[in-house]
Amino acid sequence: MTDVAGFLADVGGRLAALEAEGLTKRERLIEGAQGARLRIGGREMLNLCANNYLGLANDPRLVAAAGAAMQSHGFGMASVRFICGTQDIHRSLEARIAGFLGMQDAILFAACFDANGGVFEALLTEADAVVSDSLNHASIIDGVRLCKAARYRFANNNMADLEAQLQAARQAGARFILIATDGVFSMDGTAADLAGITRLAGRYGAVTLVDDCHATGFVGPQGRGTAAAAGVRVDILTGTFGKALGGALGGYIAGPQPVIDLLRQRARPYLFSNALPPAVVGAALAAFDIVEGADDLRAKLAKNAAYWRAGLTALGFDLLPGSHPIVPVMIGDAVLAQAFAQALDRRGIMVSAFFFPVVPRGAARIRTQMSAGLSRADLDFALAAFAAAGKELGVLA
Ligand SMILES: *Cc1c(COP(=O)(O)O)cnc(C)c1O
Repeated sequence: MTDVAGFLADVGGRLAALEAEGLTKRERLIEGAQGARLRIGGREMLNLCANNYLGLANDPRLVAAAGAAMQSHGFGMASVRFICGTQDIHRSLEARIAGFLGMQDAILFAACFDANGGVFEALLTEADAVVSDSLNHASIIDGVRLCKAARYRFANNNMADLEAQLQAARQAGARFILIATDGVFSMDGTAADLAGITRLAGRYGAVTLVDDCHATGFVGPQGRGTAAAAGVRVDILTGTFGKALGGALGGYIAGPQPVIDLLRQRARPYLFSNALPPAVVGAALAAFDIVEGADDLRAKLAKNAAYWRAGLTALGFDLLPGSHPIVPVMIGDAVLAQAFAQALDRRGIMVSAFFFPVVPRGAARIRTQMSAGLSRADLDFALAAFAAAGKELGVLA
């Protein structure tokens, strides 16, 4: 066998092993637009697994704003920002983000994955330390790997362990310490203890960074996020336009002026990847117009989340507690979780099973997500489907 043939045989073997373990992920083909209701294989389905928290993913106002921005500013940028890729609307959007989050400035990235991928390496050196929550998003884990700072990990939301790691970093002589956490942990729907984190950060002189992807736009007063909800200030925020803020793509970092200025000089995903296209920027600006006045949508989302949690609990499902619109239904076994998702699919409900390596082995789950785009009738229909599928598969007694 040639080296390439051997390599491809090995890759094929790894795929077969995933399949044998029941860990293969399959993608469904959506016919038409994303939304609370969508068409798959000619069937109308209810969507309970998008990050479409405020139901804006196919909002006609955002579609119109994207079109208008293309008319006025064109389609592509054909450049990174610092060479010839910065338009007036890029700076308008950065100012808008900073204003919304109460920060001095903000910087755009192609995605929050890139924001998190670039922030640590640009800001920290081998003299420094990062203390990171064990359940942080993959993009934070990868970003931390790319930087030279010493790494410390604390058990999820465990303030005693965070303090122990801060002490260890101080004792090792760290110059600056940065604590990194998700604002909301995406697999569990639980919020970081930002009151505890900022208290410890103050005690140990640490800088705080919060990734608020699953919060900005709908958590806290006016949707300003987890820190606003907890009534505390953090130093640096990262976020996405791919979830509540329209659902397309684009990420950002907001923070103190010198931090943003240094990121513009040094963050590699910013320096070596294209500027966001005008359509995305124009729609993101319109998303802020909507989100700032969207108390009605936030109230609907909160009501839906409370109704959905209460309904599933009454049926006897095992949920992770909380109030966030991420509502994980714990199943345990990966194969059973996928069978459950399929049983729901047959009943017109689109959900996704999450299993290793995305969550720990034995902690497979159906992560349901509420949206302001779902009606009470939709939720009643979904509860009936969960009850029937749960009995069919023995998930419910
Ligand atoms: C979705 C998500 C990201 C990635 O955001 P993109 O803009 O889609 O790259 C990063 N961090 C967290 C916590 C997320 O949930």
